[in-house]
Amino acid sequence: MSIDRRMSIDMDIEEFRRHGHEVVDWMADFLRDIEKLPVKSRAKPGEIIGQLPEKPPQEGEPFEAIFQDFQRIVVPGMTHWQHPSFFAYFPANSSRPSVLGEMLTAALGAQCMIWQTSPAAAELEERMMQWLRGMLGLPSGWDGVIQDSASSATLCSILTAREQVSGYGVNARGFDAGGRLVVYGSAETHSSIEKAVKIAGLGAESLRKVPVDGSYAMVPEKLQEAIREDRRRGNTPCCVVATLGTTGSTAVDPLAEIGEVCRKHRVWLHVDAALAGSALVLPEMRWMIEGIDAVDTFVFNPHKWMFTNFDCSAYFVKDRDALVRTFEIHPEYLKTREGRRVNDYRDWGVPLGRRFRALKLWFVLRTFGVQGIRETIRSHMEMARSVVERIEASPDFELLAPAPLNTVCFRYRPQGISDPDELNDLNARLLEAVNDTGKAFFTHTKLDGKYTIRFVVGQTYVSQRHVDQGWKLIAETAAKL
Ligand code: PLP
Repeated sequence: MSIDRRMSIDMDIEEFRRHGHEVVDWMADFLRDIEKLPVKSRAKPGEIIGQLPEKPPQEGEPFEAIFQDFQRIVVPGMTHWQHPSFFAYFPANSSRPSVLGEMLTAALGAQCMIWQTSPAAAELEERMMQWLRGMLGLPSGWDGVIQDSASSATLCSILTAREQVSGYGVNARGFDAGGRLVVYGSAETHSSIEKAVKIAGLGAESLRKVPVDGSYAMVPEKLQEAIREDRRRGNTPCCVVATLGTTGSTAVDPLAEIGEVCRKHRVWLHVDAALAGSALVLPEMRWMIEGIDAVDTFVFNPHKWMFTNFDCSAYFVKDRDALVRTFEIHPEYLKTREGRRVNDYRDWGVPLGRRFRALKLWFVLRTFGVQGIRETIRSHMEMARSVVERIEASPDFELLAPAPLNTVCFRYRPQGISDPDELNDLNARLLEAVNDTGKAFFTHTKLDGKYTIRFVVGQTYVSQRHVDQGWKLIAETAAKL
């Protein structure tokens, strides 16, 4: 095949320019009109795959056909996380500057595994992590690196803790030393902790779920008891994971007391602040990190609540040498003359290949400014408070947990119904009926066995109007059940 023939198969550069403009126009219209779409996709299982040919095309197709199919097949099969009435899960919010940054990352198409493979990517990442560290009020001596997810960052932390406690012995020899290495989280800890414990080879039975108090936060005395009990049994406490903002109800584990226990018993302390970390931009929320000096590692997700589209997870470490020593590899083909004068991020986590994620974060932080980020997060928390006030004023609804951040946990409890199963069933039906309208999207959890509806205010462009409509929808749907 001649070179000319090969080039004509791909998109011509002027065609790329034309289609690029069309795509950006489509994106702007989509984001402007997103409220007209149902928040939760109405697709039925198999409906999308049924529209896709079983085999790939033998001959290339024109971009017009591909783009039309994207609009016809893909968009109706999407749940719209950027819809301002998306109140489900935790947000994975984005913003317009973030999308533009992500487009440029795709155009640059760089593999940012070491400094030499794109010095700007490595040094912009270093600077962005310093900016975030200062914005959140984290200790100035810490280093940071962008990971794909909080799950990966927590895995890195548990692996580093494992190596610290075993004198880097597991990395070298595997688990020949005998004895169980134990990890502690609360009963409300995220499932990524259990996954990390399994992947780290510690075994799921080595995860202790420490009891929580009435606000679903870890009880430090119970943590201490569990550590003592493990020592008595000859086990080795390896890592404690404290959560700021649990996934169920945004409970905040008491860091200062947990840090004391970890110091006393010399146990590694990781903080999972996946959602709540963003709220630390607000000076009035810094109470959550009282006792931060006892912490070894900390993760939060700008891709949850800092307007930076997935994926972008900020992982901070007190001891960068311990992290690098856990992950470093030295194949000949990756050796460079800069050595330790630069950050080679391949040694700061699991994958070798890395995307240029710092670019979109830079665009977001510069467009919003620290004040803009503060104002937006504060407004989300105020809107969540307005939901709390409505629930407190309504005899037919009941708050099920404190709401220190942007998440309100509640259930419908009309007078005359007290049977626990009946209430659970009623609330499951309420949630389904609300989501079926397509006007808003909420999800649930169970707290203390109670079916709990979660109202999470965190979408970038949400306003009080959307929150009011969301509440009205819930109240009116409940009254009709
Ligand atoms: N930790 C907490 C508290 C979370 O709420 C979540 C996700 O919602 C995670 C960890 C996992 O985050 P990721 O999807 O970035 O791995």
